[in-house]
Amino acid sequence: MIRSTATIALAALALAPAWAGAHEPEDAPQQTAQPRQVTVVLAHPDDELPMAPALAALARQGVRVQIAYATQGDAGPGVSGMAPGKELGEVRLKEAFCAAEALGAASVASLDRGDGRLGLDAHREGSPAARLLTDLGAWLGEPETIITWGPDGGYGHADHRMVSAVTTQIVQALPSGRRPKLLYLAIPTGRLPPIPQMAGWAVTDPALLTESIAYTPADLAAAKTAAACHVTQFDEATRAGMMGLFDATMWQGKVHFRRAF
Ligand SMILES: [Zn+2]
Repeated sequence: MIRSTATIALAALALAPAWAGAHEPEDAPQQTAQPRQVTVVLAHPDDELPMAPALAALARQGVRVQIAYATQGDAGPGVSGMAPGKELGEVRLKEAFCAAEALGAASVASLDRGDGRLGLDAHREGSPAARLLTDLGAWLGEPETIITWGPDGGYGHADHRMVSAVTTQIVQALPSGRRPKLLYLAIPTGRLPPIPQMAGWAVTDPALLTESIAYTPADLAAAKTAAACHVTQFDEATRAGMMGLFDATMWQGKVHFRRAF
């Protein structure tokens, strides 16, 4: 159950899943697990793109996908030319809603903890990270499966790393009977897209990647629609080509994850 508090700005899309599981097509991907609900915890709008077709696949099969963004991305103008700040954050949150709708996600939550600030003074009372820990712990409830960044944060972004660490801290404190499955997004070694912009991304030994979510061409098409939403972050050619590039390299039909523990 999603709660709205004074410290959590929340907007629910309340979209019905594209497919409710009445009949599974023959070419439907086999899921490693089929939870009823998956909660995705990320740092910024557009963080969902490296796993986008997996979220579309889950939603298509009737899984309730909810996405929480720790920040609104208000410090990342991308290619927009906008000044960092509140207006940029609002635009990027709208882009997140657009992408979530394309993927069939059930809801989006913004915890608005300050883009680029999660790694600052993280041990101090009242720091963005400390407040994220409190708010996220209250908001998460008891989901069956949580997906977040790995400890690498993809390419090392401190916000990404902190979101992963805070989420892990919450989950590891739960007793085994109430502990959700926690999955880290990963790129298998040798599958990094061969573009300069991703040269600094982390890879993971495929032997550790015991979980994957397969997707169909329709799911990939939904991911392309989601990528097109992020107008402030990427130029038109990049938005149009990104998902196809990921499909041909790091995904190859399945988005890869590893279990945190
Ligand atoms: Zn990010």
